[in-house]
Amino acid sequence: MTIRFLNDSVRGTRQTSAPQSMPPKKQARPPFEFEGHSIPAGSRTLVNLPVGVFIDHSQVNLTVSVVHGKQPGPTILVTGCVHGDEINGTEIIRRLLKSPSLKRLKGTLLAVPILNAPAFMNRSRYLPDRRDLNRLFPGSATGSLGSRLARVVSDQLVPRCDFIVDLHTGAVNRPNLPQIRVTTEDEKALELARIFHAPVIVRAPLRDNSFRSTAFEQGKPVVLYESGEALRLDAVSIRHGLEGILSIMRHMEMLPPKKSSVRKKKITPLVCQKSYWERAPIGGLFTPLLALGKTVEKDEVIGFVADPYGGIETSVTASRQGVLIGRTNEGMADEGDGLFHIAIFSDLDQARDQMARSNLALPEMPEDEDDHPVPYDPFMDEIDPDRE
Ligand SMILES: [Zn+2]
Repeated sequence: MTIRFLNDSVRGTRQTSAPQSMPPKKQARPPFEFEGHSIPAGSRTLVNLPVGVFIDHSQVNLTVSVVHGKQPGPTILVTGCVHGDEINGTEIIRRLLKSPSLKRLKGTLLAVPILNAPAFMNRSRYLPDRRDLNRLFPGSATGSLGSRLARVVSDQLVPRCDFIVDLHTGAVNRPNLPQIRVTTEDEKALELARIFHAPVIVRAPLRDNSFRSTAFEQGKPVVLYESGEALRLDAVSIRHGLEGILSIMRHMEMLPPKKSSVRKKKITPLVCQKSYWERAPIGGLFTPLLALGKTVEKDEVIGFVADPYGGIETSVTASRQGVLIGRTNEGMADEGDGLFHIAIFSDLDQARDQMARSNLALPEMPEDEDDHPVPYDPFMDEIDPDRE
């Protein structure tokens, strides 16, 4: 894939005409000029982009961690918490920023662990005025607080990068299987999505006024990662997301390749053209019978909704065949509530085979590393023998 090197105008254009007898002088990479900050090559800094003022008169900022590599290369923008309660992305970016491999970065990393600070502070998906930031793009400098935030992202951040990884999760109590969403007509994004090595890629049409649509209009491919659920740090989602970003950065030669001895089996993603929600046929107590990542046949019974007064139990059947990529974990449902999110796939044998291999290739936790979530089992705690 060909990419433009926005920040490297020096590349190949300003060669010094040194005399032939002298070796050409190695030119240092110019600093990254960003909103009044000059970040030298081989350094990093936090830049606060002002957005507005909160009700308590404190400043609302969009805080960007800029890591400017010593060597030239592309600029990647990684964003988390566009929805304020989707914190797996924040943790993925925190770990990315601590990665020792960034010392050898070629190019520039713009990392935004908390894109939507007003919603993050409220531990909510939505902005304080109950709007969804991801429906306010490209935003307006004279609009609502969220609209101003969207404008800062559209005008000051997106134009400065070559491509974007945007990190999301499912809603509260609605975990997602690790998956990538890419815009149907964006082939560049699909290429990057394959390199991310998530088990499933769903090609999704652009949603009006979303971050993805603004980036698409500016010609910036977006890989949107979805995994886990809101308000929780989920180990598999976090490890998988971090590995995906590093994989893309290695592919773009921003980071050195992995040593062959530690290279693991790569997941071949299942590319689906469409997905749908199977909804509750009636209200009641809901019991799912299908786990994330499993394939499902048409008309297969995948759960049931029961009348709390001991009456009928109504089966929930799959109206299309495919792979389960999202599910509610709530034990109650009103009629029409979304229960199962199924990615439609026609060749079920291939899907079953690929999902089984993906399952084996999911990143494991090394034994010498602490990870989330903290294990806790009340029945396994050591009992104090002196306690009466
Ligand atoms: Zn989201």
